[in-house]
Amino acid sequence: MTRTDLVVLAVDDDIINLKLLKSMLLKSGHVKEVIEAKNGSDAIGELKARDDIDLILLDIIMPIMGGIDMLKVVRADDNLRQLPIIVLTTDETKKSEALEYGANGFLMKPIRNDDLINKMKTVIV
Ligand SMILES: [Mg+2]
Repeated sequence: MTRTDLVVLAVDDDIINLKLLKSMLLKSGHVKEVIEAKNGSDAIGELKARDDIDLILLDIIMPIMGGIDMLKVVRADDNLRQLPIIVLTTDETKKSEALEYGANGFLMKPIRNDDLINKMKTVIV
């Protein structure tokens, strides 16, 4: 991954997780902007409002719209279906469901910096 200008949409209902992710991503040297969303519905709003998002990091358990429902919406949308999505969760039992509904990668929380960057390298050209 040679990109240094990635725009990442981070979706998590836990504000501490969002801040940690943002800090990791910006320190990696590959990311220029992190957009935060606190549930799937907010995230869909960001996706409709902007066309420069390169990657989504997605929590599963969230109020209003959880990660699995968001995956379904994104993968059913002609304009969004190609977007890479990495699921980040504490619940390993959600892995097969997340992959079935179109996640490109899966990481268990707590997220380690190196694991996150390595997983990003597998989904970003
Ligand atoms: Mg959550």
